[in-house]
Amino acid sequence: MKFKFIAEQLAQQTQLNRHRQRVSIASSSGREIIVDGKQYLNFSSNDYLGLNNHPDIKAAMIEGAEKFGVSASASSLVTGFNYAHQALEETAANWLGRERVLLFSSGFAANQAVMHALGQKDVQLLLDKLSHASIIDGALSSQASLKRYRHNDYQHLAALLAKTTAANNELNTLIATEGVFSMDGDEADIDALTQLANKANAMIYLDEAHSIGIKGEQGQGIASADVDIVMATFGKAIATSGAFVACDTELHDYFVNFARHYIYSTAISPAIAWATQKSIETIKKEIWRQEKLSTLTRLFSCQLDSSIDLVPTTSSIHAINVQEEAKALAASEKLKQKGIWVTAIRPPTVPNGTSRLRVTICANHKERDIIYLAECLNEVLV
Ligand code: PMP
Repeated sequence: MKFKFIAEQLAQQTQLNRHRQRVSIASSSGREIIVDGKQYLNFSSNDYLGLNNHPDIKAAMIEGAEKFGVSASASSLVTGFNYAHQALEETAANWLGRERVLLFSSGFAANQAVMHALGQKDVQLLLDKLSHASIIDGALSSQASLKRYRHNDYQHLAALLAKTTAANNELNTLIATEGVFSMDGDEADIDALTQLANKANAMIYLDEAHSIGIKGEQGQGIASADVDIVMATFGKAIATSGAFVACDTELHDYFVNFARHYIYSTAISPAIAWATQKSIETIKKEIWRQEKLSTLTRLFSCQLDSSIDLVPTTSSIHAINVQEEAKALAASEKLKQKGIWVTAIRPPTVPNGTSRLRVTICANHKERDIIYLAECLNEVLV
């Protein structure tokens, strides 16, 4: 038999009750989803600002397709980079107050690309322990040495920096972290990080997948000017797909020349690039969406029973820690029976013993949705 491990590993997943399967979703509203003919209120979407069905963005997607076609039809360094990409790069760079922006086909590819391209032999990568799988994979595929500091523990990071720089002052250091953490909803402390990085002459890489659009005065995220490189995906609050890396001109030039995931991959669809530009304009214009999210978030935390172990957050991500996998699965099932869709998140996505319900609140939820969700959670978990 060929590749015996395939059947073995799948059987093991089933045995551990971790066999993953997709569900096919009908309806595009985001607030509600239809699964197997039944309607649920959706609290597992990353369409944080509720832009997925925005008429202006949909119209821009159609206009983009008409002007530029649906496919880039080549990688960017061949003939795949056109006016739609250039305009989006400029719009995003202006929005973030950065010199340059580079587009990638996904956040996963962007993270891998940067870690791989910068992770040369005389480099160390210091990653927050809870950094996204793509940051870790990129770092592991590089030639750099890799260390992970305990989650948001800057004393630990300072100790690692002190130790490694004392041993080799020629070493280049890149500190990488998420801005808002995808599975916990808590935040990196940018001031603390930049102080440490400046002292150690290190670069900072910030993954703003879950903070772009929903944080910052105009939705630009949480990075300060001292953060060297920002990555954000378009697939969450921005409601299209693809991703960008924002940095200075020299780094941009370096990635265009050395980031393999950029060079050897078809450029993102120009129709999507055109729609994404409209989405960024919409985020800036409709800042009420961010404000509504904050209102709904406050409402949720004050409706929830105080015995529920909710990770404090000002983001859209509300992690309710239930520890045991079986409990998380059972709670998710009970919520489904009440017409609520909240996915249970379990190992290996999160560490053992930290299974959770990951509730995401979006700007297209109504106050009554949040009150009903809290009522159901209080019933199911208390
Ligand atoms: N970084 C983080 C923190 C994420 O949560 C995700 C998406 N799960 C990504 C990167 C990858 O982004 P994309 O979905 O665009 O590949």
